[in-house]
Amino acid sequence: MPLGAEAQRACAWEQAPCFSGFSPLLAQTFDLYYYLTIVKLTIQLKLLPTAAQADALRRTLSTANAACDYISAVAWQTRTFGKFALQKLCYQEVRETFNLTAQMVIRALSKVADAYKLDTNTKRTFRSTSAIAYDDRILSFAIPDSSVSIWTMDGRAAIAFACGTRHKALLASRRGQTDLACVGGNWYLFATCEVDEPDPLDVDDVLGVDLGVTNIAVDSDGQVHSGKAIKNVRYRHRQLRNKLQRKGTLGSHRRLWKLAGQERRFAKHVNHTLSKRIVATAKRTKRAIALENLTHIRTRVRARKSQRAALHSWAFAQLRAFIVYKAALEGVAVHFVDPRNTSRRCPSCGHCAKENRKTQSSFVCLSCGFAGLADRIAAENIRVLGRAVVSQPDYSDASGAGSARVKPKRLGLE
Ligand SMILES: [Zn+2]
Repeated sequence: MPLGAEAQRACAWEQAPCFSGFSPLLAQTFDLYYYLTIVKLTIQLKLLPTAAQADALRRTLSTANAACDYISAVAWQTRTFGKFALQKLCYQEVRETFNLTAQMVIRALSKVADAYKLDTNTKRTFRSTSAIAYDDRILSFAIPDSSVSIWTMDGRAAIAFACGTRHKALLASRRGQTDLACVGGNWYLFATCEVDEPDPLDVDDVLGVDLGVTNIAVDSDGQVHSGKAIKNVRYRHRQLRNKLQRKGTLGSHRRLWKLAGQERRFAKHVNHTLSKRIVATAKRTKRAIALENLTHIRTRVRARKSQRAALHSWAFAQLRAFIVYKAALEGVAVHFVDPRNTSRRCPSCGHCAKENRKTQSSFVCLSCGFAGLADRIAAENIRVLGRAVVSQPDYSDASGAGSARVKPKRLGLE
């Protein structure tokens, strides 16, 4: 990775508490182009600034982050971490020193306060290109013209943006803050939109889905969504990455950075396709979806060393998050079930033993002889457990982004 450990840590906390920012580094861990709290979608708009406008944006971003650094230093020295306490302490000073508009200063204060929410043991610093949040007082959309009026160091600028018709329709439901970020030299806005969650469909059954390493997803119908393509790309990249890391030149670092981007985009595309297919299957056949509740997957799963990297990767979490949000938009309920023994229990006779799973891929019941593809068996067990979740489905694991606003839904099985 071209970034040092220090910078990585800086990015991690800076983003963690509120997702108010965006960094390419974080995108590897949690893809935030689309994060969700079920009915909230973040859409990405590419800005098309003129050279002068781009320069103004760059200066705005770096000044705002310099202000954050300044506020952070004050917070650290005086051990004051609350937003309002900080505002009392240094609002006037920051406004005069950095020549920012009042709203900009307020946003900077929130950003610093948010950054310290996680803990107050490390002093926070901000990269000059770190994303900043805008609210309606300093940014407004002219949706029909595909342009935004945005506050910069040079005053208000009207900047065009690229946007498809679907995104335009979504923009009409935009609420709250919008983030400005510079990614790879391009300028983006990340706007939070609210989408009406459709009423849950009446369902007759549950589609169990087992997400795994060898097979990315296997459902209880026996449909195997193979991860072969994704794995091949990963493997090839990993080999190349090791070679480049050993080399350690500036050029090799640049190549590594590019590689990470390619892999991320490819995995995201595969995840979008898979999740779309799974949700469509559930909807068409009037079923809810059941997934394993994977809060403790890292401690629970024992995987071969060669598989661990894949298992712990962000792509895995992304697929789950995509399934959950696409299901929500389609009115398909998602249930999370206890993952214990899903790969050991026999769906035919109920015999539960570790030895039932002969190898990674095959399952043979020691009691009744029932046999099949191990992942398919797991998906079937997840389906059965999903059917049992009726009154109080657990949505606590709905996404990495947290989902405070989720309504529990009933599964129409009675
Ligand atoms: Zn059996």
